[in-house]
Amino acid sequence: MSYKNFPMVSRVIFGRGCFNQLNEILSPKRLNEKAPFIFLVDDVFRGKSSLTSRIPLSYDDIIMYVSAKEEPKTSQVDELVEHIILTTSERSSGIIGIGGGTILDLAKAVSIMLTNEGNTSDYQGWDLVKNAAIYHVGIPTISGTGAEVSRTTVLTGPKLKLGINSDFTPFDQVILDPELTKDVPKAQWFYTGMDCYIHCIESLNGTYLNAFSQSYGEQALDLCKEIFVDNKLSKKDAQDKLMMASWHGGMSIAYSQVGIAHAMSYGLSFLLGTKHGIGNCIVFDQLEEFYPEGVKLFKQMKKEHNIELPKGLCANLSDNEFDVMINVALSLEPLWENAIGKDWKKRITHGKLKALYQKM
Ligand code: NAD
Ligand code: ZN
Repeated sequence: MSYKNFPMVSRVIFGRGCFNQLNEILSPKRLNEKAPFIFLVDDVFRGKSSLTSRIPLSYDDIIMYVSAKEEPKTSQVDELVEHIILTTSERSSGIIGIGGGTILDLAKAVSIMLTNEGNTSDYQGWDLVKNAAIYHVGIPTISGTGAEVSRTTVLTGPKLKLGINSDFTPFDQVILDPELTKDVPKAQWFYTGMDCYIHCIESLNGTYLNAFSQSYGEQALDLCKEIFVDNKLSKKDAQDKLMMASWHGGMSIAYSQVGIAHAMSYGLSFLLGTKHGIGNCIVFDQLEEFYPEGVKLFKQMKKEHNIELPKGLCANLSDNEFDVMINVALSLEPLWENAIGKDWKKRITHGKLKALYQKM
């Protein structure tokens, strides 16, 4: 047995309003006056001066607004990197991602691809990155994915939706300011929050579970219940706690694995572009057979918060399209092995997945 020796975020600051300390955090990391910081900012903040006016720009620093409407793509990373190389005269001092999982993943990937040759899709997989990334900072503005703490950046490439999993992927610095999440729309709050809940259920019910993962997973699950089930917290406490739930959920899967909802949601996302949070919810809603208690509580939370999930996503798909989706889902072997065990292939067949997808 060989145990994983995994890197963590080296520095983290937490607190309402700590975003205001960005300048003092970044200044010592500036390589020189010609080496800019590049801020990748979710374009939902364009024109929102309450956030943008607090981004500390000096010298040749650049803000690049990026849309989070679609899942991040390897080709998008290639374009961002090319743009940065063409518009800067020297190696950047750092990449700072400000947004949800989409922007955080793009920031991680861009920081890797600025020091590694070739195409981003060459590095989708496990431990393929050769050179250390440039200094990168993650500032989440919505809570749940755990992307702020994870060792991966999930990207849709030409062939697969697959992460760049490497020791160089985690952020060098994370800024956890729950106040930044205050304007997240209700439905999105639920979908991304449920990503965290599903991380906990999949980790805690997986065959890869160990005391390390369990300790973080149980903590995150308790926080999710306080926020989404008990419903007694003030808005501020709920924001603070969901940010920490996301962190703990990410730590839990770092040392175990996700499961069936994620495998199948990757399939939906690859074929139909369904976004991660809502896709996980749509799949998880159909997984009573695998996660009976987790799904029961999920349905209760959905009702409590008046969330209607879209229906009929797969109603008009061709056999060929089902095949594409099912093959993407089945290719994620560690997720199935975690969920079901080493002999998962006996229970999980092409036909079984088709029947499940047909319900969505
Ligand atoms: P997101 O980044 O896709 O954003 C969802 C929506 O919320 C967007 O419309 C965005 O503009 C909006 N938004 C974000 N912050 C806001 C704010 N403060 N106010 C108003 N609107 C705001 O959402 P997400 O669920 O955080 O991220 C999903 C992505 O994360 C997927 O691409 C998924 O693959 C990835 N992911 C990565 C990991 C990882 O470990 N790297 C883990 C899970 C998910
Ligand atoms: Zn997830």
